[in-house]
Amino acid sequence: MARINEHYSKLAAGYLFPEIGRRVRQFQQEHPQAQIKKLGIGNTTEALTPSILAGLHKSIDRLGDVSTYSGYGDEQGDHALREALKAFYQDTRSITIDADEFFISDGAKPDSGNIQSIFSSDAVIAIQDPAYPVYVDSNVIAGRTSGFDQASGEYRDFIYMPCNEENGFIPEVPQGHADLIYLCSPNNPTGAVASKEQLKAFVDYAREHRSVIIFDAAYAEYISDPSLPKSIYEIEGARECAIEINSFSKFAGFTGVRLGWSIVPRELTVEGAAPGEVHRLWFRRQCTFFNGASNIVQSGGIAALSQDGLKECYELIGYYMENARIIRSAAVALGLTVYGGDNAPYLWVKAPEGISSWEFFDRLLEQAHVVGTPGVGFGPAGEGYLRLSAFGHREDITAAVKSIQDHLSL
Ligand SMILES: *Cc1c(COP(=O)(O)O)cnc(C)c1O
Repeated sequence: MARINEHYSKLAAGYLFPEIGRRVRQFQQEHPQAQIKKLGIGNTTEALTPSILAGLHKSIDRLGDVSTYSGYGDEQGDHALREALKAFYQDTRSITIDADEFFISDGAKPDSGNIQSIFSSDAVIAIQDPAYPVYVDSNVIAGRTSGFDQASGEYRDFIYMPCNEENGFIPEVPQGHADLIYLCSPNNPTGAVASKEQLKAFVDYAREHRSVIIFDAAYAEYISDPSLPKSIYEIEGARECAIEINSFSKFAGFTGVRLGWSIVPRELTVEGAAPGEVHRLWFRRQCTFFNGASNIVQSGGIAALSQDGLKECYELIGYYMENARIIRSAAVALGLTVYGGDNAPYLWVKAPEGISSWEFFDRLLEQAHVVGTPGVGFGPAGEGYLRLSAFGHREDITAAVKSIQDHLSL
């Protein structure tokens, strides 16, 4: 008799987005006239840029001609794309990554979920709290927790690294020993960005404990402050102990197109394995389970990294960051305490005195007809906060902001 993977049943019910949907639907039913405005989505809304469209079209045309047709490509991804990424890291971060240290994928979320599979099943994981859910959920499914503890809102056996006002939403290194440390900077949901000194503390910890840092840099291109690191490899020693994951999703509007990459340096070593072994295992994993990103999409990625492509992508990012400024200044003017939104497209808004994430969510919905995302849905330390997203058409953002200004009473 077949039985399911019982670790799935340990997942605390995927509660956040279904519950938001339920409350919004109920409110709409009770108030059919209300124009509900969303500041809750973590999804891009603006059209692909001309250079990217040209790159996609070029590849489609090549597939339609027998003399230029191509089938399966290189397992690690199109060499030209990996060379373009290498040049991009050199130009934008002054760091050298070999083309064969890049692994092209269908996105940062799949890589973030899959990467744990090359590490031992008894690995102790440490995660930021609050966090993007895939780091936690993939390790639950892999059997690295004995279960969810309702009282604390935490999974047993995981090390939670609280992100709060006191530490500026960048955690201290784990207390005790962690094998795999997930870091996301700029952070979803808090919008906080780790400084070089803060990342160095994690790199030093990882080298001392021989741990591996999984660094999700999906929002790196939203950083405008030149003193803030866009890559973990800007920190000395990180090549020995860190894997970096990134994506064209938020950078180039590829959330639906699908394209990402991971970097596994050859020097990365873990206990009982020679240098190069982790790199080789990730290659093995990807060859076994994944047959490469679409060649059409990879051509779009190459176009995004061209000189014109990059210029257009940064304009797009500038558009979203202007949305962030509009939301931020309105929220601050109302007297709300707002974090993030300077180097990330998320604002982390503190709920007014004494109310919970969900109470703040309800108040925003009922008074202003605006939908945010309750911070507690990203982990117990998110309680008392609401995430507002800067992704959206300008007119929708300004309408939501106006409604908040006119109708929200704190
Ligand atoms: C949106 C997002 C990603 C991107 O995932 P893709 O699968 O590349 O679309 C990765 N990490 C975080 C934290 C995100 O918010």
